[in-house]
Amino acid sequence: MRVYLDNNATTKIDPLVKVKMQPFFEDLYGNPNSLHQYGMDVRPALNVALGEMYDALRVPDADDILITSCATESNNAVLKGIFFKYILKNPEKNHIVTTSVEHPSVLDTLLYLSDFGVDVTYVDVDENGAISAEAMKAAVTDKTILISMMWANNETGMIFPVEEVSAFAKEKGILFHTDAVQAIGKLPIDLTKTNVDYLTFSAHKFHGPKGIGGLCVKKGKSLPNLLHGGEQMGGKRAGTLNVAYIVGMGLAMKQTVNHVQMMNTYVRKLRDKLEDAIMQIPDTIVVGPREMRTPNTILISLRGVEGESMLWDLNKAGIAASTGSACASESLEANPVMSAIGEDPELAHTAMRLSLSRFTTEEEVDYTIDVFTKAAERLRSISSTYAYTNEVA
Ligand code: PLP
Repeated sequence: MRVYLDNNATTKIDPLVKVKMQPFFEDLYGNPNSLHQYGMDVRPALNVALGEMYDALRVPDADDILITSCATESNNAVLKGIFFKYILKNPEKNHIVTTSVEHPSVLDTLLYLSDFGVDVTYVDVDENGAISAEAMKAAVTDKTILISMMWANNETGMIFPVEEVSAFAKEKGILFHTDAVQAIGKLPIDLTKTNVDYLTFSAHKFHGPKGIGGLCVKKGKSLPNLLHGGEQMGGKRAGTLNVAYIVGMGLAMKQTVNHVQMMNTYVRKLRDKLEDAIMQIPDTIVVGPREMRTPNTILISLRGVEGESMLWDLNKAGIAASTGSACASESLEANPVMSAIGEDPELAHTAMRLSLSRFTTEEEVDYTIDVFTKAAERLRSISSTYAYTNEVA
């Protein structure tokens, strides 16, 4: 049996999305900016796809949805755009507030910008992996130009207080960006009801194709053009549009948002079943209260069991999980979120993430419970650290 439990890293393409994209690799290959029939033939599908995205996130018509190549690009574009548009021109307002557990596409970009005089405050998570709205507000100074806070964390699934902090930002005249990559399809999102100025998303996290993402930009909050050299997207991001992928992203987003309810019932139930079973294993920790997490995610740690060893045991049995974000998994570092939470270093090294999707089945969960429990027993029986810890205890 093969079981894919790494849906926070990427997801399988929804079969309906694949079918919808296919004609754009065949006869419908025109450039939508061409004036001839080939160009005209693809334009309606592009408009449908954009309409699907506006509807799915309830983005007001006056706001923009810019298509990018991925969430990493969207996050870079917001942070560097704010730097060029505001901070470079008025260094008095050079302060950005963020959290210490953002995706590297935010953290590394801010680190880069700090070389150019940007002052960044990183608000830490508490022992549950939660971000307090009060701590975010307290970090703001009269120099703050932007708050950037993810909507849900990729490692723990913890949901951050975007509504409250974005309302506060608006009150103070501070711009607000959220990386909503892990929230779309898991939480209901309605941009008519929030004060979010910039919202990042990525199709491959919700059963769309890889290499395509987007950025919602509130009216009046435009950024410098992301790419120069063409009139696509009103000149805001030049480059020939990737029609097939945009069409795929539109349908994938519509589908994923239509399944939010299913995520919060069916997937949540499967996730809870898996978590309950794993929690039966002694000395096991799951980060964050369930009700504060996205319904598909578990970040778990078993004392005395190396995350990497467990992954290999699972992998041998056909189960895919991860020790953290796929971007960091080539280096066998401690899980960055566990480290930020302040768990003891031994636990940080054992952290493992299991993330489900609406395509996960109960049979797969039952199989995983069986394999996981036996692997934990096996690995503990050969773990000197675990035996030692137990003796001391
Ligand atoms: N932001 C978050 C929260 C993510 O989880 C990821 C991917 O892991 C990204 C951004 C980057 O997404 P992309 O692969 O589309 O660049």
